[in-house]
Amino acid sequence: MAKIQMTTPIVEMDGDEMTRVLWKMIKDELILPFVDLKSEYYDLGLPHRDEINDQVTIDAAMANKKYGVSVKCATITPNAQRVEEYHLKQMWKSPNGTIRAILDGTVFRAPIMIDPISPVVKNWKAPITIARHAYGDVYKSTEIKVPGPGKATLKFVGEDGQEIENEIFTFEGPGVLQGQYNKDDSIASFARSCFNYALDKKQDLWFGAKDTISKTYDHRFKDIFAQIYEKEYKDKFEAAGITYFYSLIDDIVARVIRSEGGFIWACKNYDGDVMSDMVSTAFGSLAMMTSVLVSPEGNYEYEAAHGTVTRHYYRYLKGEKTSTNPMATIFAWAGALSKRGEKDGLPDLVDFGKKLEQASLDTLNSGIMTKDLVRLATGVEVKEVDSEGFIKAIREHLEALLAK
Ligand code: NAD
Repeated sequence: MAKIQMTTPIVEMDGDEMTRVLWKMIKDELILPFVDLKSEYYDLGLPHRDEINDQVTIDAAMANKKYGVSVKCATITPNAQRVEEYHLKQMWKSPNGTIRAILDGTVFRAPIMIDPISPVVKNWKAPITIARHAYGDVYKSTEIKVPGPGKATLKFVGEDGQEIENEIFTFEGPGVLQGQYNKDDSIASFARSCFNYALDKKQDLWFGAKDTISKTYDHRFKDIFAQIYEKEYKDKFEAAGITYFYSLIDDIVARVIRSEGGFIWACKNYDGDVMSDMVSTAFGSLAMMTSVLVSPEGNYEYEAAHGTVTRHYYRYLKGEKTSTNPMATIFAWAGALSKRGEKDGLPDLVDFGKKLEQASLDTLNSGIMTKDLVRLATGVEVKEVDSEGFIKAIREHLEALLAK
């Protein structure tokens, strides 16, 4: 069979530990035999990041801006223990944080659903994608532990000298205080990324905030979404047959639980942090969550939502077989190849990405799965395999699908 041709390279960002091991297996077994892969390779593995002072992370993000599609392996975000383990020059920042800051994107996380694993919420029939606004709010807040009686105010001093000052509270004893912010342009980028992604996926977009209580802060989010929708997206949404729906966050949560799924849920930063864990757990497993960063200009970076699976890696280093689940990383490759094909007008590449996803789903639906899924599966005769065995089984399904 002739290999599928590409025209523009995919930006390939390699990573760390067990996912780096899986990365090579996935490429060797599931990509390179079928696609004449054009990729611009960036090694974001921690030893290389340390060697060149993290420049590779910036270069990779700039390459994504240039080409528009990348696929990223999970990477270590160093902490004190990692600085010692890898003898690092310094505690380098989170690569995902650096990339997100350069692309100014929004992260969309969606579960991979399979027949043998039913969501905990019985009526969920299709994936719920969470879009988290990963900027500002409580994550960039300033806090004070109030020592005793006194008056707290919130004050803004403009560059032009204009002053706005509001009283927050007069303390009669000790307490706590918090100040947080967000920016119109970040909220607008978030809104555009969400509207674009909804159009791309042809799914409804829901957004919830607490504008009845937070009459200025949360209301600003609601207004910016509404203005951008009316001006730039209403006609496109109507033409695509999808809707944009805003409601109070508590109402949205209730509706999400009662829904059948199959929509995109835009969340403010904290809501997204909390709700994405709830949604991923209710759908099954962190190992089955895909993640894509979409910039407002329409650049895409695909990855797995999970980390480098350190525990398995230490076992792998001892020569033990591991049953690490490669699904989310395979879906990252499949998503990136399909999107590259779509951007370049290459239907064979789009089709390959879809078939790679299908072959992976077929393998799981036939009962062949890694250890993490075995205890969750019902209604199918399960065969537990290691990562290598699982990837080889997917290859058989893939070859059958491609031969059709
Ligand atoms: P992790 O996602 O690697 O593991 C969390 C738990 O889920 C573990 O119990 C693990 O065994 C299980 N798990 C996750 N993915 C699995 C898979 N594919 N198959 C089977 N089990 C799986 O997160 P962690 O342990 O908190 O972090 C490990 C490293 O990953 C850290 O150094 C962290 O900085 C990094 N990390 C990177 C990213 C990223 O690059 N996007 C995200 C999270 C964590």
